Parts: sequence; C-alpha cells; structure tokens
Amino acid sequence: MEICIDFDGTCVTHDYPEIGKSIGAESVLKALVENGHQLILFTMRSDRDVLVDGMLYQETFLTDALLWFKKNNIPLYGVQANPTQTEWTNSPKAYAQLYIDDAALGCPLIYPDDKQERPYVDWKKVREMLSVLQLI
Ligand SMILES: [Mg+2]
Repeated sequence: MEICIDFDGTCVTHDYPEIGKSIGAESVLKALVENGHQLILFTMRSDRDVLVDGMLYQETFLTDALLWFKKNNIPLYGVQANPTQTEWTNSPKAYAQLYIDDAALGCPLIYPDDKQERPYVDWKKVREMLSVLQLI
C-alpha cells in the first residue's frame, strides 16, 4: 500500500524549521516498509533560495527532513508525489491509499503538558490502528 506521511508533528514534534524530537514514529515506519508498504513524504517543507541583504542563501528544510529518513534507515518511495501518478493525473495531490498526518481528522494525538507546544501524533495508538488493519 502507498502511504503518505506528513513530517512536522507527525514524524517528530513541531519544531519547524528545526527537526523536532523523536515521538516513536521510526519503528512504526520501519515496520510498514518491512511489511511491503511504500512511504511517500508529503510535507509543506521545501528547499528554496532566498535573497537576504543581497546575499543568496539556500533553505534546506525539505532536505533536512529527507536526511532524517536516511539517518533512520527508512526508505522513501516518493517525495511530495507518488512517482507513478503523472502517468494518469496532473493533480498536485500525492496519491496514496492512506495518509498519516497530525492535522488529519481522526489522527490520534498527544497533547503536551506544556500548552505552548503543539500536539503531535500518538504513534502507540497509530501502531495499534495499523495492526488492526493488518498493515503491520
Ligand atoms: Mg504536520
């Protein structure tokens, strides 16, 4: 199954543009891949050139997320798009059969005690849900 995965608040805590803290996504994402599923990173992060005081800088926020996957040995099938979807659509939405995203209605979340911190995905509950669906 092709599965789109958001990054901030989903793979890690919200700390954009930095990489947030681990919230237990790594082992579940690995289990999905080990069970033959294909992960597509579907995030608002991007890399771009910015001009500041006449100097050109490169923001590498998407690359930083890609390095998180590489560092954790979690292979990605696609980034921002399903690699095969251009064969049958021009839609900018990445095609998948399942989306895991902290902003999705119904996604189980952990609400930190620190009210300044934004909620993030509860991977213990997501693991149980994926198990019930027999995906891991
Ligand atoms: Mg998010």
